[in-house]
Amino acid sequence: VRGYEGRRVAVLGLGRSGLATAHALRAGGAEPLVWDDSPEARDKAVAAGFAPHDLTREQAFDGVASLIVSPGIPHLYPSPNPIIARAMAAGVPVDNDIGLFFRSWGARGWESMDQTPRVVAVTGSNGKSTTTALIHHILSVSGRPSQMAGNIGRGVLDIEPAQDGEVVVLELSSYQTELARALTPDIAVFTNLSPDHLDRHGGMGGYFAAKRRLFSEGGPDRAVIGVDEVEGRFLANQMAEAPEDDRLIRISSGQKLEGAGWSVFARKGFLAEWRKGRQVASVDLRGIRGLPGAHNHQNACAAYAAARALGLAPRVIEEAFHSFEGLPHRTQIVGERNGVTFVNDSKATNVDSAAKALQAFPRIRWIAGGLGKDGGIAALAGYLAPVVKAYLIGHSAREFALQIGTTPHEVCETMERAVESAMAEAEPGEVVLLAPAAASFDQYPNFEKRGEHFTALVQSRL
Ligand code: ADP
Repeated sequence: VRGYEGRRVAVLGLGRSGLATAHALRAGGAEPLVWDDSPEARDKAVAAGFAPHDLTREQAFDGVASLIVSPGIPHLYPSPNPIIARAMAAGVPVDNDIGLFFRSWGARGWESMDQTPRVVAVTGSNGKSTTTALIHHILSVSGRPSQMAGNIGRGVLDIEPAQDGEVVVLELSSYQTELARALTPDIAVFTNLSPDHLDRHGGMGGYFAAKRRLFSEGGPDRAVIGVDEVEGRFLANQMAEAPEDDRLIRISSGQKLEGAGWSVFARKGFLAEWRKGRQVASVDLRGIRGLPGAHNHQNACAAYAAARALGLAPRVIEEAFHSFEGLPHRTQIVGERNGVTFVNDSKATNVDSAAKALQAFPRIRWIAGGLGKDGGIAALAGYLAPVVKAYLIGHSAREFALQIGTTPHEVCETMERAVESAMAEAEPGEVVLLAPAAASFDQYPNFEKRGEHFTALVQSRL
């Protein structure tokens, strides 16, 4: 980190990114003043060589140049964090590790698009991790050095110093974009927008505003924007000076985008790239194992567009799609037997993401349930046609059974029984799909452990 030599910088929140920030500040010659409300987190900081500095004290911000806040800490809504409020009252600028990263990065003096390394930043409500990992994968297999960080894998201040020609791909959540005082990627990607985390952003307007900051004044050299919601269409409109403006690549899953500009869209299993009113490339997405379903075709469009903006050829990108294995727990194929495919989508913890998974396959043996959210699965009524039978588990099993109507189902309670029944009954061409539409905490510590359990049960029986 540059720009804070010999100055005191407060760090609030001592999880992984907070500690990485403290290390990076110290390496840059600054004096980090670290604090976390949790005594366990403070103990970890001590073990890492940082003595806690109590930021709850009256004069805590005297002589402090900046306050760096971890993404897990709400700063404005539902109520202002008292330490952040104190810093603001003392006139101390509030920032986060992403802001520090971009400021230090810019200071290295890479000025134009042909001087590399370059930074690609991905945001949106859904598909961020998949899109980020897919861009990183495309670059890696095409021989272009690439590092991936941010909300995925490691913190931005943990990445290795980049070499010439390298691309850094960042996944950024709305919490991260909202606070960062510098946000200057070369290429910015906005996948889609649906209501999420609204309590922390003071509603949908605040949530969209947080994501939009990636595209504000000056903005990226290239913007890849999903235009399937009105917010994306508005952002696209703001990014382009004229319809044929090359700075903007519009993407869609479902709509034909054939205008004068640059666009990438997926329809009926095919991806098409259009430029200046004509089609320049197409890719058959059907049967690509790591990218099942229309939602993944949207992610494929976003990653394809970013890779094109970086100068890669369509055929190179297509080839990389075929070797992409998908991310664990996101419509991930974990096994096959006698024509039956087993898919782990444990990350589908709400009805929206479960709906995407239910649209990705024609005949489904659906394992669902867990700690249900408000409304249960009532909102999925229109998506149950492909479900041959549901196998209901966890706390919400009985509630889901009442809501599922005429769809055949069995209350299994445990994952073991659900996998056993579904496996015994599945026929060739069917998919046994774990897409719980519920949180995992009734039976598991987190969705990863739930997905691992499903995968282990399946694989031990193949
Ligand atoms: P994020 O990082 O934005 O949470 P992930 O790639 O981790 O996104 O996917 C989260 C969940 O949403 C998974 O259940 C996945 O199957 C589903 N999903 C992935 N891509 C999309 C998309 N483009 N639109 C809607 N849902 C998606």
